[in-house]
Amino acid sequence: MQVIDLLHTATRELAEAGVDGGDLDGQLLLGACLNKSRTELFLAADMEVPEEARRVFLRYLERRKRREPIAYILGEREFWSLPFIVNPSVLIPRPETEFLVEQVLAACRPRRGLHDGWILDLCCGSGAIAVVLALELQRDIVAVDISCDALAVAQQNCRRHKVDDRVALVKADLLTAFAAERRFSLLVSNPPYVSRRQLRQGLDPEVAGYEPLLALDGGEDGLDIIARIKEMLPVIMRPGGEVFIEIGAEQGPALLRMFAPSAGAAELVKTVEILKDYAGRDRVLHLLLSGY
Ligand code: GLN
Repeated sequence: MQVIDLLHTATRELAEAGVDGGDLDGQLLLGACLNKSRTELFLAADMEVPEEARRVFLRYLERRKRREPIAYILGEREFWSLPFIVNPSVLIPRPETEFLVEQVLAACRPRRGLHDGWILDLCCGSGAIAVVLALELQRDIVAVDISCDALAVAQQNCRRHKVDDRVALVKADLLTAFAAERRFSLLVSNPPYVSRRQLRQGLDPEVAGYEPLLALDGGEDGLDIIARIKEMLPVIMRPGGEVFIEIGAEQGPALLRMFAPSAGAAELVKTVEILKDYAGRDRVLHLLLSGY
């Protein structure tokens, strides 16, 4: 069996199984088995595939046909052009979250001195956000998650990218462990924010069947966790601190209401804005805290 034959097999079988984008998936899976980039694969189209690599590839293909995400099959996903270890105890890092990171960096860079307190990453999952911020900002970060299994993945990623001395991983349900002491000047979070309605209507089979519900389920309107974070802000954040939270595409209006002065946030929040991603969808809640 040559490379090209196996790529054709993947395209055909994935299409039959109703999986979109089978061409690319086949290339990624076979490339991983042969330790070749996609370009290298095409250049080696007529290469005989060793028996062992062929067997591994066909096993991967079976998993993909059952809708397992490529990132879990390969145990890795690229985020911010860096490889991150993933497994089903963490959400697979998404491009939307790169937008969140860009916003945080844009806010920090021009006025480094201003944000000299600690940075907090709530619901850190695989640690992708914390690792990138630690690398880009050379700052210390506290990364919190409720799941020990997720923190184990985050730890591996911190070691892999050599920021384990800069990122402190903490197991907590949001921030109960950090009550009082307004230590943090910057909070970033990609919390679970999917509403029950969206969960009921059905997510993609890849998401519904394999990704951790704990990392997705944001309660009835998807805003439960963000509402809890709001309550904690005056306890954990320095006055004048800044907050960036990833949100769902339609949650902007509800969050503007949640953080409006009339909703009792007058003392807490100086400015609130919803940042739209490159597809024009609500994606990030940005708060500038007041001097309370
Ligand atoms: N963007 C994710 C999804 O729609 C949700 C991520 C989250 O809840 N933090 O699958």
